Formats: sequence, structure tokens, C-alpha cells
Amino acid sequence: MAIKQALTKEKVRAIFVVPDYYKNFVCKGGDCRDSCCVGWKVTIPMNQYFLLHGLSCNKKVKEKIDRTFRPILQGTPERYAEIVHTMDGDCPLHKKDGYCLLHETCGEEVLPWVCRYYPRGPRIDYAHEASCANSCEKTLELLFENEDKLTFETKELLFMMTKPVKLPDEEHKILYQKIRKEIFVVLTNRNYLLHERIIHLGRYLKAIETNIDAKYEDLDLSIERHDTSVNENYQILWELLDNFEGRYKRLSEQLDEAKRHYLLKDVDATYKQARDKFDKTIEKHEIWFEKMLINDLFFKQFPFQTNFQVSDQYLALCGTYVILRYISMNLMFDKYTLADFIDIASKSFTVISHSEFDKLLAGLMKRYNLNDADNLAKILQF
Ligand code: SF4
Repeated sequence: MAIKQALTKEKVRAIFVVPDYYKNFVCKGGDCRDSCCVGWKVTIPMNQYFLLHGLSCNKKVKEKIDRTFRPILQGTPERYAEIVHTMDGDCPLHKKDGYCLLHETCGEEVLPWVCRYYPRGPRIDYAHEASCANSCEKTLELLFENEDKLTFETKELLFMMTKPVKLPDEEHKILYQKIRKEIFVVLTNRNYLLHERIIHLGRYLKAIETNIDAKYEDLDLSIERHDTSVNENYQILWELLDNFEGRYKRLSEQLDEAKRHYLLKDVDATYKQARDKFDKTIEKHEIWFEKMLINDLFFKQFPFQTNFQVSDQYLALCGTYVILRYISMNLMFDKYTLADFIDIASKSFTVISHSEFDKLLAGLMKRYNLNDADNLAKILQF
């Protein structure tokens, strides 16, 4: 269901459902290894652009602010101006100590919404919910602080937000709560491997297509073992991933590096080496992947994403898991710490959580026949 948004932002103070780590989130500022101020294409609405241009503050700072934001050709009221990055891709207002010159000089109130709230993503349509994006390294550090399943609690929060023009009816809101609760139960059943739980999730989503009251405990949880050829699977994966070439800079860098790992090498042996090394270095990776996926699904309102069929959202989830594992396993080959793993995953999520990546991925999964249950199970398995 598409939810229409109004153009103006209003104060929303309410009780939000938030993941357990949310209360502990504090930006790392100058200690951040991969700051969100670097390399991100940030746009701001027209009213914020004129607010910034009308600021009265220190002449030197004002000049810098004016040069930082530039109107976009054929912009819209919502996407009116963009940040003009420095030659090394940084925001010109990002200081060497990691703090923001605009924030420091003029206060939090004048920060563009995206800078003010990132990595927080508040939602007020189906439910009042807020969480932090996996693209921020601090979010992943908090997620990986313990091995417990991600839980949710409530917290009073205040946001300036665009209110939806039309809200879903009560029936859809109840459905949203019910289905998402069941999905998190499926994905956290650690009696099964994570890829098996993802297969179970596919069966659950299929079951509710015909019976909205279908229950997880009534599903067929049997898992068929498929003989898989690493070489065959990687040929399909590489063909699919080639479609991302040059599309998303940060993801393309990671995909190139992962593929280079196999250059002129035996694919099967190299895969096994990378997998064994990854299993040893990041022993708890099943748990970390589980927590990242659930946090991302919560953030995106899965499976109620706007203009995105449920079956396609599911395919995107499967593909995301496969790609994340592939990138992590291969890029961790010469790295040894959890911080390295966090840097790799948060970089991937700068694309996964903040672009049309999942819609594109769902389309590609279909093009390469990965929507077929057996093919999907094969690629998820390794
Ligand atoms: S990525 Fe996260 S921790 Fe780093 S500067 Fe941005 S908000 Fe702060």
C-alpha cells in the first residue's frame, strides 16, 4: 500500500517502538572510522535551503555554509539542494575533529533533517516506530554488544516529520503488527541455521497470501539438502552482480574487491578457504547477520514497503543476505577483527538501506531464475 506524504514537516511527540539498543545510541563524532559526512549524496528541501541561506552568523562560516549547499537542476520542493563535497568526498562543514561546523556555530535546530536524525529512521504510518540504520558503525557496535535476540521496547520521542496524507486503516495496522511479530519469531528461531529460517520465512509469507491467520508452528519446516556447485553458484552470482557495476560507488568497490579475490584461482578452493577463515575470525557471524537483517527489516517496514510486492521484498531479503555473506567472507580474508567486519557491513548497508538497491535486486533475482524455490535454496545455502 502506497502511503502519500504531505510536504511540510510537523512536530511529532509520541511513544515509539524502538529496538533495545536505541536508547544507547550516541554518535561517535570524531571517533567514527567511516563518517556519514563523507561520500554520501545528501539533498535538502527548499525550506531548509532558504533557512540556511537566511542565517545570520559569523561571516566566514556563513560564506562556507552558502557554498556547501547548491540548488539542484530541476529540483523539487522536497529535493531542492545538494551538498557540494570537497575533493576527497567530505562535507565542507565536517571539521577535522569529526564535529559539524554548522551544528557548532548555529545549533541543532538549523541542521538539515537528514544530518539531524541520521541514522535514526522514524515511522508514523502503520505504527510509531524508530530505529537506527545499519549503515552507521555505532548501530552495528550496539547490535553486536551481546548475542541476545533483538528485542523491542517503547520510548517517548520527538521528531519533526512529514505526516502521511492518508493513514492505513485500523485493520491494516493490526495486520502489520501481527505479521511483523511472526516474521521476527521465524527469523530468530536459532534451532535452525539462518539460511533455513529465511526459507521458512518464504513459506510463511506464501501461506499468509491465502490465509492471513496462518501460523509459523503449522508450517512445513523440513529443509531439503541440495547438492550445490560453488563454481556454478558463483557464476550466477557474478553475472547478477555485474549489473551493479558503476551504479553504487561504495558497493561497487566492495564487489570488485571480492571478485578480485578469485582472479586466476580455483573458485572452489578459494571459496572454502575464505569461508573457513571467516568462520574462525567472526565465530558468531550467524548471530550478527540475524541481528543486522532484523534491524534492517524493522527499519524498512518489511514486508509493508511502499510500492514493492511482498514476494519481491522477500527476494530482496534473500539476495541481500547472499551478497552480504559473499562480501564479508571475501573481504575479511586478510582482516582479523570484529571492527573490520563492522566496517565492511556498515559500508554495504549505506547502499542496502538507503537506495533503490532492493528493488533492483529483486528484479535481478527474477531475471536469473533465483525466484525458483530450488535455485533460491541452493544460493542461500552457501
Ligand atoms: S556514521 Fe554514525 S557514528 Fe559515524 S559520524 Fe555518522 S552518525 Fe556518527
